[in-house]
Order: sequence, then C-alpha cells, then structure tokens
Amino acid sequence: MSEHHEIPLLNDHHNHTSFYMVLRNCLDVRNIDDIDIAIKKIKELNDEINVVLGWRFGNTGREEIEKLNPTLICDGSLHNYILNRKAKKMLKDKFPEIVSNIENLDWIEHNLCTITKFIPQIKTIEEKDVVEFFKFMLKENQIYSMEDLLLPNIDFVKMYENTGFSKRIKYWVDIKSYDKLSDEYRSNVEGFKIFLDGAIGPETAALNGYINTKSNGGLKLYSDDTLTKDLKFAAKESKPVAVHAIGELVIEQLVDIVERENIKLPCLRIEHAQYISLDVAKRCKRLGIVLSMQINFSGESLLFKHILTEEYLKRNNPFRMLIDECSFAPGKDLIFGSDGMPHGAQAALENALFPVYESQKLTLDEFIKGYCVDSYDHGKISFDIENKKIINLKTMI
Ligand SMILES: [Zn+2]
Repeated sequence: MSEHHEIPLLNDHHNHTSFYMVLRNCLDVRNIDDIDIAIKKIKELNDEINVVLGWRFGNTGREEIEKLNPTLICDGSLHNYILNRKAKKMLKDKFPEIVSNIENLDWIEHNLCTITKFIPQIKTIEEKDVVEFFKFMLKENQIYSMEDLLLPNIDFVKMYENTGFSKRIKYWVDIKSYDKLSDEYRSNVEGFKIFLDGAIGPETAALNGYINTKSNGGLKLYSDDTLTKDLKFAAKESKPVAVHAIGELVIEQLVDIVERENIKLPCLRIEHAQYISLDVAKRCKRLGIVLSMQINFSGESLLFKHILTEEYLKRNNPFRMLIDECSFAPGKDLIFGSDGMPHGAQAALENALFPVYESQKLTLDEFIKGYCVDSYDHGKISFDIENKKIINLKTMI
C-alpha cells in the first residue's frame, strides 16, 4: 500500500549557494575509487587552475599531483586540502596566508570561513552558471528559494541581480567582509554569520561526547570577549546574526552572553544546534532565539557511530524535545535547511518521517511549516510513501 503526497517546494534556510555553484563546475572525483583514474581525469582538465572535489586518497599519489598543472584538491568534507607547488607559486602573492597554511589541519579548522571564500575567487563563474544552478536546485532538489549562509564576495550579488534571481536568495556575510561593503550592499545583506565551533567528522564540534575522549571539548573558536564584541556590533547595526553552533558547549556560551549582556538583535539564529540541551533550549525559547536545523543531519546518528558515544548519537537533533517540551514552533522559531549535505527533499523527508530515533521525528505538517514556501504558485513536490520509504519523489513545475 502506498500513500501519495503533494507538498509545496522548499525554502532552504541554510545553504551555501554560491560555494556549491562554484563546486558544481569543478571536477568531482567522489565516485572514483581508483587513484590512477582520478589522476587521469585531472590531467584531462585544461584549466588555468584545476579544482578537484571529493578526493579520498589522502596524500597518496603526491608525486603525480606535483606533476599536474596548478591544482587544488579538496576531500568530500571540505576540511582537507592539497595545493601542488605550481598552484602555490601561482597564488602566493594574492593569497599568502592561505598558501602557507592550507595543508595545516588546525589552521583550516580555525579558518573554514576563509577557505569558503577562497575557492570562489580562484574558480570564477558566469551568469549562465547562476541560471543553470537555480534550475538544477529546482528540478533536481525541489528548492525554490534559499539562504546563502556565507557569501564569498560581492560579484555573486551582482550576478543574482542581473539574472533576476535576487528575490529567491538571501545572503549572510562575515563581519570582516561587511566592513568592506558599500552602504547599498550593506542594506541588502540579511545578517552576519559567526562560526563558534567546527564539525563532528573532524571532532571539532564543541561537545563532550567523543569516543576518543582526547577530542572532548572540540574547538571553541571564540573567546567570550570577542563574541560579545561581535554581537554588540551587530546590535548597533540592527542586523540579524546566524551563529554556527553544533556542540552544547558553544550553544551555552552564546546563550550565557546574550543573557548576561542583555543583547537585543532583530533576530538571533543558531545554525545546526544539534546538541542543544533541554535547559538551554528553554532559555533560547525565552530569549526569542530561532533554531535553524538540518533534518538530514539526523542520519549522522548512524554515520558517526565510530566517533560519538551512544548517549550523543541519541541526543542528535532532538526535535520532539524542542517542539513538545519547549514549544518551539516550526516555521516560527524552528526552521529547516540542508547545508547542502545533501540538498533536497528526499533525505530530509526520510529523516523527518522515519528517523534513526523517535526523538528526531517530525510530522509532515511540521516539515511543511518549517521547510516549505507558503504557496503552490511555483510548483510542488510529489512523492509516495511505501514501506517506510519515500519513493517517486519529483519536482512538478
Ligand atoms: Zn553551513
């Protein structure tokens, strides 16, 4: 027995539109198992600088990589990079700090924001790529509108305006980039993005649930003083703030500061908030903080079995606690986005309706309120549910 459903298209509240747009034009070797084939594919590229995504061979083949044209290689997690000598020579004057540090893992974790802005500067795109990407997001991923949580540079805004897509995208910038913008662009920016911790894969999310207890605590990227200073700057500019915080340690750091300093912002969002505790969630509710979460990350409770303790696997994405015990309301102070891992409705619906843990479950109505645009004007998502599987999912335009 299958059940048919039609729901509105997605409004992805957390994407990295510009960055993924650039990566889509790069060589993707995620599905290549044989290093010789991967090298051969890179050799076929005729670019001034090759950018390769999804490398999973570590430093193996380094000699071959050095023989290639200028080449930047990143692994699928975007946390590990190889830059060959020819590329280093080509880029060292314009990006001296990045060239000297890109293979230093600790530096990368502290500077992911810099890296996200760096790749779009060496691999530029054109207006036709913007048009193609929006088409791809709509047709293949059911996404009508989206928020880019870290705009790489102002050229993208110009391209969104020229191609007529600016109404379907909101963008966030880091404070350093905002300083350099003209007033006209400053007023178009949705708000500031701040990163408080790393990610679970590299064991840098600020939490205390790693199997390898040496990793506990993760990486706290901000001191209390610097965070207070940045939040006060945003308040002075009357701009919203979106804070990347996965682990309970940095979520609490943020909430402590907002309460202690009585910081008032037009909107404060916590991005990810995967390990938020009941006590801190109640404080967030009282402060009017919006939780911007990734339903597709519920699957990490299986994916990270070798990294996190069982207690933490269960604590991931506690949607039932947030909605039933703290009264967070999907679409109001609980919103959903993909972070592009992966984009689209399939993984999100599977994880919402049939999650690893019951505590991660969402009803279809909650999914629609928190994740979909509020009309059927531009199309709909059609799918069937059969044997606890989402099948025949497609965008209907
Ligand atoms: Zn993100």
